[in-house]
Formats: sequence, C-alpha cells, structure tokens
Amino acid sequence: MKEIILNHPMIRHKISILRNEKTSTKEFRELISEIAMVLCYEALRDAKEEEYDVKTPIMATKGTKVNEDNYAFVPILRAGLGMVDGVLKVMPNAKIGHIGLYRNEETLEPVRYYCKLPKNIEKKQVILLDPMLATGGSGSAAISMLKQDGVKDIKFLSIIAAPSGIKKIKKDHPDVQIYCAQLDEKLNDVGYIMPGLGDAGDRIFGTK
Ligand code: URA
Repeated sequence: MKEIILNHPMIRHKISILRNEKTSTKEFRELISEIAMVLCYEALRDAKEEEYDVKTPIMATKGTKVNEDNYAFVPILRAGLGMVDGVLKVMPNAKIGHIGLYRNEETLEPVRYYCKLPKNIEKKQVILLDPMLATGGSGSAAISMLKQDGVKDIKFLSIIAAPSGIKKIKKDHPDVQIYCAQLDEKLNDVGYIMPGLGDAGDRIFGTK
C-alpha cells in the first residue's frame, strides 16, 4: 500500500514554522493540531456514508452521516497526544485509546508500559497517531498490539516521516495505510529525523 503524503504548499509552509527552533510552544501545539486535522480528513476520505432525510429552509433533501462509533483514535504516548484535539475536530465522538511504549536500553525493543483501549476496539477502524515516524519501531509495535486485540482496520497518521520508518511499517504491516504530512530525508545516528523538528514531545509539552 503506497503511503499518502500531503502535498500542499500551505502544509509545507506550516511544517517550516514547526521546524524553526524559535517557534513557541503555543504555536507549535496549534500547528501540530491543525496538521493532524488535515491528515484526519484525508484518512477518512473512504469513510462509509449513510443517507438520511434533511429538510432545508427551501426543500426536503438527502443528507449523509458517518457513524463515528466505528472509529477510535489511539495516540502513542507521549507526542501522539498533541494530535488528539486536531483529529477530534474532525470526528468529535470517536473513542480514544492510549498506548505507551518505552525503548529497552539493552534490547532496543519497544516495551509496553501503558495500554487502555476502548471497548469493542476490534470492531472499529483505529487511527494511530504519532507525529514523528522515525525508525518505525514503536509504530510497528503499537500496530502489533492492536492486532493482538483483534483490530483489523488500522491507519497510521504522522506529521513527518523518514523513509526508514515508512519502510519498517510497510514491511511489518503491509495492510496499514500510512498518511504523513511531509517526508524527510533520513535519520541521524541517534534516531532523530533530519532535518525534522527535534523532539516532538518536548516541543509540544515545553519540557526542554
Ligand atoms: N521522535 C521525535 O520526537 N523526533 C524525531 O526526530 C524522531 C523521533
């Protein structure tokens, strides 16, 4: 499945502001949220619609609705939290799960420290949120956890992706559609995306 990359001058414009080390925490948060909203619109392009009757001031017509109960958003802690309010603007009634992972310093494997998912998650389309798709290690592990819980329909939303992260998710989970706002060049030797925007979690929460 080919990754979907938002190819839009205003998205590049806003990501350039995100990249700037001088951008304030407030503006950084607002832009992460706005871009997450656009990604979410794109991810829901194939959402199933049901028709219903609507009466406008002029005449009777047909409206359509999407059953929000069929969707859940799952941010990967901590940076994925920065995308939640943006995606909720698109689908305010979707349920939210959380997956927390840390990297075991010896094995370098992602280890789950927190996981709380909505009821009947296996019946929903799950939209995973992580602003930086770098090595793809935690993204792939989070997808495996969802699949262990029976989830069959998963999409992955990131703001900036590196080729290595996309490659890893596609190799481990070829059924998962990846959406990203911009594709960067590569990783540095400590796993940060270049040119990237630094540590997304620190910049969203102002912790550095
Ligand atoms: N996580 C981040 O926050 N930034 C990167 O560049 C890579 C992973």
